[in-house]
Amino acid sequence: MTPRITLVQGDITRLSADAIVNAANSSLLGGGGVDGAIHRRGGPEILAECRALRASHYGKGLPTGQAVATTAGKLDARWVIHTVGPVYSATEDRSALLASCYRESLRVADELGARTVAFPAISTGVYRWPLDDAARIAVEAVRATDTAVEEVTFVLFDDRAYRAFTARMT
Ligand code: ADP
Repeated sequence: MTPRITLVQGDITRLSADAIVNAANSSLLGGGGVDGAIHRRGGPEILAECRALRASHYGKGLPTGQAVATTAGKLDARWVIHTVGPVYSATEDRSALLASCYRESLRVADELGARTVAFPAISTGVYRWPLDDAARIAVEAVRATDTAVEEVTFVLFDDRAYRAFTARMT
């Protein structure tokens, strides 16, 4: 099955879903953008679990395109799925890695038994991926994934991102 896709404009830390996806960096130790917002609102429990994951499995960092879950602290979700998007490159095609973030996050969601998953627009902030292209890759990747997840919500922080994703939904 492929999930139903819903678009919402807003702050992903305010959303309720079984799992909320974080556009993390490979250190798993927090950062700016959506990562910072998730740790701020979710509280220290998430970071503590990230540190433990680093110590047990990801001493060299979580590789780009992969995903791993923690609990969600004070967020209105059961899990946070942390995935590392690629930094945009104008000279190298990294779109398979960006698609992998969505696919791997949904695979982890399946392992957890999550039925509703919220994604931000991975790599479109500090990692500079052009919004239109990132939206195309995100929507195609979710549509191409066979998963028991029933609903994927893309939570777009601003109007520009919301419009870019809306254009890809038709
Ligand atoms: P990356 O390093 O993957 O580019 P960023 O966090 O810098 O990650 O940005 C990813 C996207 O998340 C950007 O489109 C940014 O506008 C958006 N964003 C930032 N804060 C939030 C939030 N609280 N909820 C949803 N999206 C957010």
